[in-house]
Amino acid sequence: MQQVSPTQDRTQDNIFADVLENYKEICYNIENAKAKYRKSEDIVRLMAVTKTVDPDKINYAASLGVKLLGENRVQEFLSKKDQYDKDAEVHFIGHLQTNKVKYIINDVTLIQSVDSMKLAGEINRQAAKNGKTADILIEINIGDEASKSGVAAQEVMTLAKEISQLENVRVKGLMAIPPIGSGEEVFEKMNGIFLRMREEKIERVSMDILSMGMSGDYELAIKHGSNLVRIGTKLFGARKYMEG
Ligand SMILES: *Cc1c(COP(=O)(O)O)cnc(C)c1O
Repeated sequence: MQQVSPTQDRTQDNIFADVLENYKEICYNIENAKAKYRKSEDIVRLMAVTKTVDPDKINYAASLGVKLLGENRVQEFLSKKDQYDKDAEVHFIGHLQTNKVKYIINDVTLIQSVDSMKLAGEINRQAAKNGKTADILIEINIGDEASKSGVAAQEVMTLAKEISQLENVRVKGLMAIPPIGSGEEVFEKMNGIFLRMREEKIERVSMDILSMGMSGDYELAIKHGSNLVRIGTKLFGARKYMEG
């Protein structure tokens, strides 16, 4: 392996050449999956999932065109956000405790991980306080995993109707983290729920965004209706530490 000495000229492209290569490959795969499975006018957004990644590396990805960032941890986000590319848009995608909503409400354009009326209620309260409307996604525990967050599939319709009563919150779609190694039926099921909820035409609830697909399964997710894929490892390489 080649060592980089401190005196060597280190342009960004040298340091982050792997990110550039990864980015090209992801874009190629997304385009391929779209060409194969989707209508030509369909748009699939690529989100860079930033947990444990240094801001300069994140900004390099942004400079390539990944203007959407996904944040998992409130603390980590707050410590990094001021260094981010000013054009970058940030979504919160991690488990969110109600007492932390106030720290992020003005810095994210969407909270993807809402799975209870309690959390939605607090987002509503903080949004009202700041004179805004907060866009959210409802997270579904599509694999029915005991350890995972997300509302049960059979309860999502009820939750969406409840949330629709909140003045300062708007449901924009659904998010899911299918269990690793999930078969196609899991992605199909998720897309089925998304389409059924769209048919339901709940007032003030729009089904615009289906956030599904990560490093290991984004092509499968695109095949089954995803229009926002959240990629960490495949873009930035292995994470520095495990998620807690
Ligand atoms: C970490 C994470 C991702 C990205 O996972 P990779 O497998 O590294 O691409 C996507 N979504 C959520 C909610 C995550 O926490």
